[in-house]
Amino acid sequence: MKKSLFSTAAGLMLFFYLFSCSENVIETIDESKLTDKVSKKSLSSITNPWKDNPYKVNIVYFVPNDLDTIPDYKGRLSRIMLQLQEFYGKNLQNAGYGYTSFGLDLSSDTSVNILTVHGKNGKSSYPYSGGGSAVITELNEYFNLHPDQKKSSHTLIIMPSYYTDPLKPGGPPFYGMGRNCFALDYPGMDIDKLGIPGTEGYLATKWIGGLAHELGHGLNAPHNKELKGEHSTLGTALMGAGNSSYGKSATFLTKATAAIFSTSETFSTITRNDWYQGKNHRLSSIKAEVIDNKIILTGRYLSNAKVNSVSVYHDPFPAGANKDYDAVTWASAPINNSSFKIECPLDKFHTRNGDYEMRLTFIHENGNIVRYTYKYKFENEHPDIEKISNKDFIDRTHWEIVETDNEESGAAKNVLDFDPATTWHTRWRSPVKLLPHHFIVDMKSQHQIKGFGFMNRSNQTDCIKDIELFKSNDNINWASIGKYELILQKNWQYIDLPQQESMRYVKLKVTKNHASNQFVHLAEFAAY
Ligand code: ZN
Repeated sequence: MKKSLFSTAAGLMLFFYLFSCSENVIETIDESKLTDKVSKKSLSSITNPWKDNPYKVNIVYFVPNDLDTIPDYKGRLSRIMLQLQEFYGKNLQNAGYGYTSFGLDLSSDTSVNILTVHGKNGKSSYPYSGGGSAVITELNEYFNLHPDQKKSSHTLIIMPSYYTDPLKPGGPPFYGMGRNCFALDYPGMDIDKLGIPGTEGYLATKWIGGLAHELGHGLNAPHNKELKGEHSTLGTALMGAGNSSYGKSATFLTKATAAIFSTSETFSTITRNDWYQGKNHRLSSIKAEVIDNKIILTGRYLSNAKVNSVSVYHDPFPAGANKDYDAVTWASAPINNSSFKIECPLDKFHTRNGDYEMRLTFIHENGNIVRYTYKYKFENEHPDIEKISNKDFIDRTHWEIVETDNEESGAAKNVLDFDPATTWHTRWRSPVKLLPHHFIVDMKSQHQIKGFGFMNRSNQTDCIKDIELFKSNDNINWASIGKYELILQKNWQYIDLPQQESMRYVKLKVTKNHASNQFVHLAEFAAY
């Protein structure tokens, strides 16, 4: 009997997105209910609260060699950036992260240092589609020659409109690419135009709001949408359709977006030398339940760095969907840097039918983001999300390894220690110990076993493939309970036994690994 294993559809996705944004999403809103229109007050008398942030967003004005700068770009863009800085600060405060915002390189309290960089080529070399890479290549050359002018790893690149008609701006790249993002400038782009009726006001929201939204991408945020019901109270999420509401109607940052910014380099008041370095994060367990019309997610994790917040994105995901714009999100602080609980009321979802993708997101204090992705489905308005839960494992706190053929490169007891970072590893140095390999677990008393759980280490080379399981009640007389195959995946995977089996001892025998090498390893082993 050889079975292919069915497992939770979960994958680990480290982040590096190319964000492309729709420019023309228009929403209507009841202005009378708005709570937070963008402030237009003069900033001249205020000392910038973030002037001492050690990292500043690089603001670059990149000019193709057949175009000129647009009059007063430094003054207009300074006002826009300072207003935006305050907008981000207020929103982080509202989300519970304090009055923090991105740093700007200031020459005075009202003036931002804008680096003007002249392109080697004409505008046709920097088209909307594909032109971003060419700009970034030249900009990297510029920063290599002038390293002191680079104030962080985050850069907003603003380019003059390619079109002569001031009422029809457009042309250059306009999106986020990693920690770089693009916006454009045109003669009427000024905060005084925000919110006024007619074309000028429409354009100001579209292009200043667009800049605000793209900057969000450049500061690590993906798209998301306000929860159902929030539109009338908080307005439009900036990282959703906020590029069509900023300055015109209430626009805000969701808690999930604010959580990401709060650990973004340019928001920091301290220096670090490990910004965005990958952390060894593993989910030890996850449970998803639907109780009182809420999805309740709980679980445990291990990481070699502090997790500042845990958020979840529920993203309607029908085939061909406009990915992630309409994801509803929740964020929470972790509990004791080891577990989490997030409640997602179903009445806050905009749609409750069809396919969904859930992205569980762990944001480390150094800005490193680790995402775990799950698929589920709504049927009759009910999500089948329980299926992503771990099995309900039998307590293995007191279990023991009583035999193994080899553990020269990692003790077999590591599979019982609840720490996915430690592994059973047979000798891999020459002379390698040959397959098969095995260990025996004493579960200390007889248990009725429905199945077993296995977790690979994070480096998935040479993971276990073919196994046979045996049962015993005395560690002398053994009976096979089947041959199975494990797959290459990081999260828990399960073997459901054809029928429940009673045993005290279980033996795992490995006959083959995925790379056809002779050594094997395993991070965790459990039973249910
Ligand atoms: Zn976008």
